[in-house]
Amino acid sequence: MKIAIAIDGPAGAGKSTIAKIIANKFNLMYINTGFMYRAVTLKALRNNISASNIDKICTLIQNTDIYFEGDDLILDGENVSHYLTMPNISKNVSSFASISEIRKKLVKEMQKMAEKYDVIMDGRDIGTVVLKNAKYKFFLTATAEERATRRYDELLKKGLQVSYDEILEDIKKRDYLDTNRDVDPLKKAKDAIEIDTTGLGIEDVANKISQYIERR
Ligand code: C5P
Repeated sequence: MKIAIAIDGPAGAGKSTIAKIIANKFNLMYINTGFMYRAVTLKALRNNISASNIDKICTLIQNTDIYFEGDDLILDGENVSHYLTMPNISKNVSSFASISEIRKKLVKEMQKMAEKYDVIMDGRDIGTVVLKNAKYKFFLTATAEERATRRYDELLKKGLQVSYDEILEDIKKRDYLDTNRDVDPLKKAKDAIEIDTTGLGIEDVANKISQYIERR
């Protein structure tokens, strides 16, 4: 049977950084599912399609090809990784991610990857929907302020001019939309181990997770 590890939690909880470390350590394929929702958002915005235009969204999603090459996401043949963390995508992604037609298609793609490879996936509904039967499930949290500080530092390092207050507001808005949507909302799976990462370093969290995995 394939190994499957699910990491869920709100924006900026450290999921992707931790998932990459665990992927390297245990030789797993890392799948950043947020990137997949971000790629669909990028495509919709490029085509001037709003999240309320369900007909056009359906056509768009049926004609979209997404796959990973290492950490990079290839959208219809183009490496779009660089665009996916831009503030404009972060602002809009939760509206597109609440559309069930988009979720159905992307969840199926994620499940296909998990059938083929040993995976670690991070997202919002991995432990509850995508990899419901995963043996290892983790739910990472941190205060909104700490998560905003992490995102702020990350974007500054990339050379972007950003405002901390705007990032905090965006994170709170996304938390609300992701937690309260009708389809596959962000919630901790009953059998997930919750780790509050506030005040913890990356290595501390990665070690905790590694220990749980090694113990089972
Ligand atoms: O993980 P990241 O913050 O990049 O995810 C961007 C957005 O994609 C989330 O705020 C959420 O709206 C959506 N998402 C989701 N389900 C997932 C992964 C991401 O709804 N499994």
